[in-house]
Amino acid sequence: MTFDNLGLQQSLVNILKKENYKKPYPIQKLAIPAILKGNDVLAIAPTGSGKTASYVLPILSSIKFQEGSKDRQVDVLIIVPTRELAQQIKDVFNVFEKDISPSFKTMAIYGGVSINPQMKSLFGVSILVATPGRLLDLVNSNAIHFDKLKTLVLDEADKLLNLGFKDEMSQIFSLLPSKRQNLLFSATLNEKVEEINQILLRNPTIINVTPKENNLENISQLAYSISNEKKGPLLRYLIKSGNLKQVLVFTASTYKADNVSDKLRKNGISARAIHGKKNQEARKMALQDFKNGKLRVLVTTDLLARGIDIEYLPHVINYELPRSPKDYIHRIGRTGRAESLGEAITFVAPEDEHHFKIIQKKMKISVERIESNEVDFN
Ligand code: AMP
Repeated sequence: MTFDNLGLQQSLVNILKKENYKKPYPIQKLAIPAILKGNDVLAIAPTGSGKTASYVLPILSSIKFQEGSKDRQVDVLIIVPTRELAQQIKDVFNVFEKDISPSFKTMAIYGGVSINPQMKSLFGVSILVATPGRLLDLVNSNAIHFDKLKTLVLDEADKLLNLGFKDEMSQIFSLLPSKRQNLLFSATLNEKVEEINQILLRNPTIINVTPKENNLENISQLAYSISNEKKGPLLRYLIKSGNLKQVLVFTASTYKADNVSDKLRKNGISARAIHGKKNQEARKMALQDFKNGKLRVLVTTDLLARGIDIEYLPHVINYELPRSPKDYIHRIGRTGRAESLGEAITFVAPEDEHHFKIIQKKMKISVERIESNEVDFN
């Protein structure tokens, strides 16, 4: 299946090609036709599944925006838990809305920044991405109205509820016209999400694309016995000889992450490290460059990796072992999802042997081993 068969406007299909979206991800195959039909949708889909495009594309394809809207009525409201997500979603709209005519305005609003500029800019906005608290502040200041709202999206609904936004959301729902399309996205389905589903959705199309983290069938796993000093040369050899284009490398510490990425760069391989000591902007840029292919290697630690929203990663390399089997699965579970076959490589230094044995035992697997002295990587 390609994006041509999903019923989207041709201008969007063209941009998808330019953006290198070759074929729809499972969530997109299922959600796009349902949303285009006007159905309500309940989608259980984690970050990284392609969920954003699964609603951005049909929304852009089906809504008739007014030329140069001159009021404070929004057509589409997307409620999200964090300012980062709000900004990310706005960016996705901006990529795809370029050739939609007539043109219209998309805006992200969130707390933690001054409210006045947001109040002014809200004039003429058609698509609004918002965190709940700031949204209510702006509603109370009469800066936005919802009489013409056509579509409501709750993204990362489970996180919205976990962060205690339930009351704010109820207040927001009470302001919306009853005739509208509702799209509910959540990484997990729990009681709280089910409750919102009952309140909000009418006869929804239900979609579940939760990845099976323990299903390692699509992942080819390989381990190299290697001394700590030789890990750097082996990493470079694997990247260069395999012509690997998108590699996520895991280290155990932030210091090591920096060190590994510095060495790769010195050897002509584009790499950057992201970890807790880098500021938000630097992390965001690195991630963006990695996703769109400008950066070949991203080096990271377990902590930060949980926030990396990329699915279908072809290569993961454990430069240093994870602490637990759970972390191992979490790291390598990023490869080989859906139809793609992923590869996970683990470097095992002599002092890691015991720990790696435990990981394999707990996971009931035996990872194929290559002795690095059998590889000529110099
Ligand atoms: P999301 O789950 O919406 O955060 O998307 C995760 C990442 O996958 C984003 O970087 C998207 O740009 C990318 N992406 C989404 N759908 C596709 C697709 N069909 N083909 C290639 N990349 C995609």
